[in-house]
Amino acid sequence: MKIICIGRNYVAHAQELKNEVPTEPVFFLKPDTAILPPGRAFYIPEFSQEIHHEAELVLKICKEGKNIAPEFAARYYDQITVGLDFTARDIQQRQKEKGLPWEPAKAFDHSSPIGRFIPLSEVKDSSTIAFIMTKNGETVQSGTIREMIFSFDAIISYVSRFITLRKGDLIFTGTPKGVGPVAAGDQLELFLEGQSLLSVKIA
Ligand code: MG
Repeated sequence: MKIICIGRNYVAHAQELKNEVPTEPVFFLKPDTAILPPGRAFYIPEFSQEIHHEAELVLKICKEGKNIAPEFAARYYDQITVGLDFTARDIQQRQKEKGLPWEPAKAFDHSSPIGRFIPLSEVKDSSTIAFIMTKNGETVQSGTIREMIFSFDAIISYVSRFITLRKGDLIFTGTPKGVGPVAAGDQLELFLEGQSLLSVKIA
């Protein structure tokens, strides 16, 4: 199983980090060790002074595919949830300045808590899926798929030109604006269409 993450998929988030709005999807990978076992706290790693939350919609791939045309992409994912793409922003900034890969900032152990998956068929209107993240009870990030620069189908099609997608692979589809630091003691909760699917304690 692999985890593919899309970066800069919401205009307002690209702007808040002073990045250009991309003309093609930006993606990077995380290993399976990035998954946070369900129910476990997230421990801030000792190598970073600035871990940011990035709340995202996450798709699960349901069959193998390569060079998938956009019009057939919807056949390749059937479940959705919310997840966190924890980012060591201080390390990422350093890597970006040097033109180096992002993995130390993104792919570290437990950097990707994921919620309980629900079948896409259970989502009432799949063209307007909305999600929010609260920190200590206050909403800090919210997004809908209408704000995405690249749709689910465009992402699947683009990534599969380079990498074979397999059943069980996860696609993090990018974060809306409102990213920010977490501190020990924080409680994060993520909702999809009002349903709480992920709760993470920061330690
Ligand atoms: Mg992200």
